[in-house]
Amino acid sequence: MHGCCLLGAAAAAQNSREVILLDSKAQQTELEWISSPSTGWEEISGLDENYTPIRTYQVCQVMESNQNNWLRTNWIEKGDAQRIFVELKFTLRDCNSLPGVVGTCKETFNLYYQETDAEVGRNIRESQYVKIDTIAADESFTQGDLGERKMKLNTELRIIGPLSRRGFYLAFQDVGACIALVSVKVYYKKCWSIIENLATFPDTVTGSEFSSLVEVEGTCVSDAEEEADNSPKMHCSAEGEWLVPIGKCICKAGFHQKGDACEPCGRGFYKSSSQDLQCSRCPAHSYNDREGSWRCDCEDGYYRALSDPPAVTCTRPPSAPQNLVYNINQTTVSLEWSSPADNGGRNDVTYRIMCRRCGWEPEECLPCGGNVGYLPAQSGLVDAYVTITDLLAHANYTFEVEAVNGVSDLSRTQRLFASVSIATSQAAPSQVSELIKEKVQQRSVQLSWQEPEQPNGVITEYEIKYYEKDQKDRIYSTVKSKSTSATVNNLKPSTAYVFQIRAFTAAGYGTFGPRLEVTTKEEPSGTASTALQLTGCPVVLHCGYSKADQEGDEELYFQCEFHLPSRLRFSDIKFPGTKTYIDPETYEDPNRAVHQFAKELDASCIKIERVIGAGEFGEVCSGRLKLPGKRDVPVAIKTLKVGYTEKQRRDFLCEASIMGQFDHPNVVHLEGVVTRGKPVMIVIEYMENGSLDAFLRKHDGQFTVIQLVGMLRGIAAGMRYLSDMGYVHRDLAARNILVNSNLVCKVSDFGLSRVIDDDPEAVYTTTGGKIPVRWTATEAIQYRKFTSSSDVWSYGIVMWEVMSYGERPYWDMSNQDVIKAIEEGYRLPAPMDCPPGLHQLMLDCWQKDRADRPKFDQIVGILDKMIRNPNTLKTPLGTCTRLPPPNTPDFATFRSVGDWLEAIKMERYNDNFTATGYSSLESVARMTIEDVMSLGITLVGHQKKIMSSIQTMRAQMLHLHGTGVQV
Ligand code: AMP
Repeated sequence: MHGCCLLGAAAAAQNSREVILLDSKAQQTELEWISSPSTGWEEISGLDENYTPIRTYQVCQVMESNQNNWLRTNWIEKGDAQRIFVELKFTLRDCNSLPGVVGTCKETFNLYYQETDAEVGRNIRESQYVKIDTIAADESFTQGDLGERKMKLNTELRIIGPLSRRGFYLAFQDVGACIALVSVKVYYKKCWSIIENLATFPDTVTGSEFSSLVEVEGTCVSDAEEEADNSPKMHCSAEGEWLVPIGKCICKAGFHQKGDACEPCGRGFYKSSSQDLQCSRCPAHSYNDREGSWRCDCEDGYYRALSDPPAVTCTRPPSAPQNLVYNINQTTVSLEWSSPADNGGRNDVTYRIMCRRCGWEPEECLPCGGNVGYLPAQSGLVDAYVTITDLLAHANYTFEVEAVNGVSDLSRTQRLFASVSIATSQAAPSQVSELIKEKVQQRSVQLSWQEPEQPNGVITEYEIKYYEKDQKDRIYSTVKSKSTSATVNNLKPSTAYVFQIRAFTAAGYGTFGPRLEVTTKEEPSGTASTALQLTGCPVVLHCGYSKADQEGDEELYFQCEFHLPSRLRFSDIKFPGTKTYIDPETYEDPNRAVHQFAKELDASCIKIERVIGAGEFGEVCSGRLKLPGKRDVPVAIKTLKVGYTEKQRRDFLCEASIMGQFDHPNVVHLEGVVTRGKPVMIVIEYMENGSLDAFLRKHDGQFTVIQLVGMLRGIAAGMRYLSDMGYVHRDLAARNILVNSNLVCKVSDFGLSRVIDDDPEAVYTTTGGKIPVRWTATEAIQYRKFTSSSDVWSYGIVMWEVMSYGERPYWDMSNQDVIKAIEEGYRLPAPMDCPPGLHQLMLDCWQKDRADRPKFDQIVGILDKMIRNPNTLKTPLGTCTRLPPPNTPDFATFRSVGDWLEAIKMERYNDNFTATGYSSLESVARMTIEDVMSLGITLVGHQKKIMSSIQTMRAQMLHLHGTGVQV
């Protein structure tokens, strides 16, 4: 009867997150639910609002009381569902609109469910049902005329769960209402499979609770992989929505992302890592002809080093080094070359040296073997030079210099190298390894020895040098012998002597061998013999140093008495002063070098008193040295810190091996070393005033020009001695000069390259290696050409440091600017109060062409002359002509005195200037040192800085206006 009432029911839109378990509207055939009693709910066909046929159940027993009409659905299998949604659509008739039903008519019905694991019988046992709710209509209808379709459709949604059985029934209990059940929809919610961040997340049923989220792991799409430690996850909400994506997948190497998938890189492209976003074009000199590549292959002849990432260009071995030149000095060959024209596209080019000794035919060449030394190394050379030592005399050698880079060893193409063939010349003999005392008497000692291992020629004579061990000022004497024994006469009785010997060939003298100490016997009585005689040798010769004191400057003079046999000419005699420096690194056993040149001291003779400084290898202490039979002397003790490596010990003692070869009043004197105890120590004469730069800064303005020049003269004398010995210092600077209590300056800080490594002033330059730029000659900076002439340049800088009381050369200019300025011809101006002659000498030391620079010998001569004629050192204030340094402010640009003071960082004195009426730059330019002092500027350094700037200002004004400023 009510069938038509249901036609207006609106169909609910299908929600995509829902999984439908039951939808009464979807079924066209009879539903065949169970109705009990059968007079209650009745299945009726109808049409919905779209005129689609639907199945409905209706009941309307409103006239009779005590109605209990049940309608039960078929069994609904729940599947994965935990929370079930029940959506009911129904119409309900308003009791008020029905006449005569008061008391019996109802406006609600009840909804129940029963959980079971399988279908049960057709009987409805009310007690087994669980009530879900009482359902009332939001709107009921009153019009009886069904044709008008004014019935209001109600929609109610109820949720049941969590459910635990396999399925359930729903039941509707009517207690006397007029209802049409238009549709029953039962469903649960799911998060449907999606792809997010290149991960697939499967269909996921929502959780049982309204508030629960289900965590779901994603699976990467093909050709994608999980990002490290960031596996993809999402959360499925109770509403079937995906929430909170975490982590992600990324396309594997060779693939890139396109939408939700990974696609292979095209030909000619690559992607080396999953981390990269895009495929990139193959780098230069590489290619690939496959899709999905993670890298590109190098073209023929091009390579990639193992450490090269796939993104870099393929490279090839460098071409051969160019302009190979050599320099040969006896059995030492130095090679220099310039870099290859083509570095193969890499910047890791190094050089390696192949040495072959050849017979007279080219095919007779053999590798040189391990006895040859290479400095700094045979391979891995960063700089384009090498020194090859310990070659055989009179031999032919071929040297090949090959430039190599990171791909040289991968290449199978022919090696490219530059080569030279060189014949070594004669070499000095090697050392006499042992000197033996044969017979010791009161006034003579008879010695013998073996010919040196490598005479490198015919030994024509031996020279024995000896001195009294305990004598304060060492005076050497020498005797010569043509055989391997000699008797040294004319000695004092009961006196300790030290003997050393060296061999002589046409190639010159070898180096002195180890020292031998012999004490002559006590003399019972008798007279001293005065004749000097050599056994087996008719040559009689006696030489010795004596000390002279000239104008307070100590100098040692060499004096000889000759008894020349007729066949020996004076020019045949080699003087002891031609001693040459031996690089301790050429010793295979560095310990031997130390003991060759340094005396081993007994640690018990040394008393350490206090720490005075920090050296590279450990503390520097002061203390006293007490040798047996001598009074104790103050000493500086350099210690080697505990836990040193063998290399550190070697480097530490290297300084002693070098210093021990020197004996000059202006070179710090080595007392000895302690190598057999701990700590390992180097004991040096004590220099009370420490290093020169700090000393001068401390005593700013306190010395006379003569005193300063005296210091410079000492340093030059020390350097003359070192250069005569063939020693190149490389790090001559005021900080490496020590000053004793008598203001005597001595050159210190010896070592090989490491000295420079330790120097905080040393910086790496583009030519490789560390260089103290401000002190170093241009050619040494540019191509590491260190010579005594480059030491002369550094000496000029030391002159400037001394005359400016320790000012920093080139002030605060950067190293790069210094190099640029020097290259452009700029030179440091004369320091304040500097005699022009001294500045001229500095400028001479800084000649670009090293051949134009004076020799140390000439420098000593010039300084001596100045000291003898102090008038030449008088400088009226401000007469030093100077050019401003390139970064000196241009005074024309200053608008005020304040501007100027700020530019020279002296703005703190602004008030001093204005208060005394110096308000214009013109007035400032006329100031004298007295004027500056009268402003109350008491610091000497500041007075000088200001005065120096005023002088520059004056020079500029003169230049600008062509008029002098009257001072
Ligand atoms: P060095 O390791 O040679 O640079 O020495 C470090 C510091 O120890 C120097 O700067 C000096 O102050 C001090 N020093 C080194 N040698 C001596 C010495 N012979 N006499 C006095 N002080 C020295």
